[in-house]
Amino acid sequence: MQTKLLRPSEDPTAIEQAGELLRAGEVVGIPTETVYGLAADARNPEAVARIFEAKGRPQDNPLIVHIAHLDTVHDIAADFPPAAQALAKAYWPGPLTIILPKQDSIPMVTSGGLNTVGIRFPSHPLAQAIIRAAGVPLAAPSANLSGRPSTTTAQHVMEDLNGKIAAVVDGGACTVGVESTVVSLCGARPRLLRPGGISLEQLRAVLGEVDVDRALRERIDDTEKVSAPGMKYRHYAPKAPVTVVFGSPKASADYIASRLGDKTGVLCFDDCAARFRGQAVVETFGPSADAAEQAREVFDALRRFDTTDCTEIFAQCPPSDGIGLAVSNRIKKAAGFHVIDLTEGEK
Ligand code: AMP
Ligand code: MG
Repeated sequence: MQTKLLRPSEDPTAIEQAGELLRAGEVVGIPTETVYGLAADARNPEAVARIFEAKGRPQDNPLIVHIAHLDTVHDIAADFPPAAQALAKAYWPGPLTIILPKQDSIPMVTSGGLNTVGIRFPSHPLAQAIIRAAGVPLAAPSANLSGRPSTTTAQHVMEDLNGKIAAVVDGGACTVGVESTVVSLCGARPRLLRPGGISLEQLRAVLGEVDVDRALRERIDDTEKVSAPGMKYRHYAPKAPVTVVFGSPKASADYIASRLGDKTGVLCFDDCAARFRGQAVVETFGPSADAAEQAREVFDALRRFDTTDCTEIFAQCPPSDGIGLAVSNRIKKAAGFHVIDLTEGEK
């Protein structure tokens, strides 16, 4: 299959072409504010099956359904409780996915066999325009091969999926850079299943108490049942194994500097790069004091290691407040939760 690169900035028919392909049951890569999505008609089981096939995604890993009008929630969720309405009012359109009980119109293949469904109203104008042009809700996971870092440019999507999908819409680089926050409102208390563009602090400002799923903190065994099935899979990983060194920028840089070998890769803050240049394969992902910039850069930096000959990677990691929680979660997942915690003695 020839994958078309559609460019709305040059071609006024690009959005309509994407909409037509999606209505016809094809899979299209689309820009959103978080990462690129791999979209298909959420109500069409054959179209959704094509997403799983193109990505090589395990069948029990559910997809998020994207909407471009608040009223459509009722076509997808069986219930839209007051807590969900309050979240939608505060953070939609935006990088927040709310898990709710599923309507029958959404097939089980879309929800990974669950009776619940994740819904998101993206803020990216092109994502909204494509959903409206398609005229159907769009199921869309991140547009990467399963296990690889998520994609934040149309070029990344082509790297992973050229020849496997009908088209990619080029909307430039994503402004958030990590995936949406996933919060479940299906249990007794709200539960954060995945940190993302909306912080835990922002969720608590609307909901009060929010539990944090243990999959955020530790590696979950493949055989275990988890609330967010995606959290148990190895994810975001470059080819070389990653070790996270958690501590202040100086302490982690000192530790990494003492362990450099011939083919060591270092994922580090911009302000620490000079320590390693000339001695290691260095990829930077933003200033240590700017977690929002780190979020925009982290997947691109992880991908760049695969074009080098490094055999191991040490990674610095930001503290867990604000969007730093999402950045550190992605880096720890890329490392399979292999973390050296230099702050342990301080606790
Ligand atoms: P991706 O779109 O690739 O970022 O993956 C979406 C992730 O959202 C999944 O891997 C799950 O962890 C989570 N998710 C989506 N739908 C549900 C659901 N119904 N219940 C729990 N988690 C979900
Ligand atoms: Mg993904």
